Amino acid sequence: MKKIVVLGAGYAGMRVVKKLANAKVDVQIVLINKNSYHYQSTQLHEIAAGTKEPADITFDVAKVFAKKKNVQVVIDEVTRVDQDAKSVELKNSEPISYDYLVNALGFESETFGIKGAEENGWSLVDIDTALAARKHLEDTLKRYRSSHDENDLKIVVCGAGFTSIEYLGELVYRLPDLAKEYGFPLESVKIDCIEAGPKILGMFDPKLADWGVKYLESKGVIFHTSTPITEVKPNAVMSNDTAFPANTIIWTTGVHGSHVIEDSGYEQKRNRVVVKEDLRVKGQPDQFMIGDVSAVPDPVSGRLYPTTAQISIAQADCAAENLIALLNGGTTKKFVFKSLGTVCSLGPKTGIAAIDMMGHWKLKGWLAAVSKKMISDRSTLELADIRTMLGTD
Ligand code: NAD
Repeated sequence: MKKIVVLGAGYAGMRVVKKLANAKVDVQIVLINKNSYHYQSTQLHEIAAGTKEPADITFDVAKVFAKKKNVQVVIDEVTRVDQDAKSVELKNSEPISYDYLVNALGFESETFGIKGAEENGWSLVDIDTALAARKHLEDTLKRYRSSHDENDLKIVVCGAGFTSIEYLGELVYRLPDLAKEYGFPLESVKIDCIEAGPKILGMFDPKLADWGVKYLESKGVIFHTSTPITEVKPNAVMSNDTAFPANTIIWTTGVHGSHVIEDSGYEQKRNRVVVKEDLRVKGQPDQFMIGDVSAVPDPVSGRLYPTTAQISIAQADCAAENLIALLNGGTTKKFVFKSLGTVCSLGPKTGIAAIDMMGHWKLKGWLAAVSKKMISDRSTLELADIRTMLGTD
């Protein structure tokens, strides 16, 4: 019987295992993940702002596959893929060999080598980092009552991509409650968001983007565009000679793929491997690369697709179908992606959305928030089951 080893239980890894386990193929599946749980990485900003708890966005990986006899879940950290030996090296146990490999190891925070970013910025890449960012924010705001240090009430959010904007939405929603709880003056809080590019929310139609920006500005966020961050000091973010002082610095300037990619000798850029149209690694017909460690050219624009949960899930479907075809002696098909649209939350109760289902819909306000909730419930359902989604497990 052939053995398929899947690395990572993020959106892509969970989905590919679920598809393979339900398929009518005689195959052994091994899913390797660092943590015993899956987390919805698109909701880490909510943990960091304190509007959700880890239990709201995580579920147990082994439980999802408990009834699938052909799935084995291994909790360990992948350190390297030995492509010649066709085996996966692990931190705490013996290497695991494979006939087919699906690499879905996901993302890490990108610092672009900026001095002090790693040491002084709080990144949001997993449950631990999001919880650490939350604790720091709460401790710093709480401290103001005794320190009277203005910088304790200053927060800088680095970058204005999706993660930053969604974090800012949750932050401005939670701050009034924190002000009451910790007794600091809400009107004295200063939030700067510093973006290297010329636009905020440039992926949306200008009217929607403008609505989103104005909403956050009305809650006190100050945006600084065309302002590249050049250094992060312990208590200030620098853009050349301009300093933005703050005792809380959130580092959300983008992501790259897992360091295991470089450590395993793949040809890569920012730990992402440009894969073939059927999502296999060039020259490695037994290896699929999906999710944030892969880079797939969009045949229409010629540019690489962005790294999103929606694309990861679509890639997983394609990789699973291609594996099933190969196991049955068939041929693989090309990855084709049809976007369902984009939603950006601005806190739990509002947001903006461009939905491409049964027409093109531009939404703002609570309707966008509702569509975000529906997408996140649907994604839980796509990765786990109805009991997990309803939290009845
Ligand atoms: P991102 O790459 O989308 O945004 C990072 C931002 O930081 C960019 O605007 C960039 O110009 C800015 N930046 C980078 N270096 C900088 C510097 N030195 N100084 C100032 N600004 C700098 O990264 P992200 O927000 O972490 O998102 C990662 C991926 O996940 C993206 O593909 C994103 O689309 C996706 N995502 C999607 C959603 C959603 O669909 N709702 C939510 C979260 C993340």
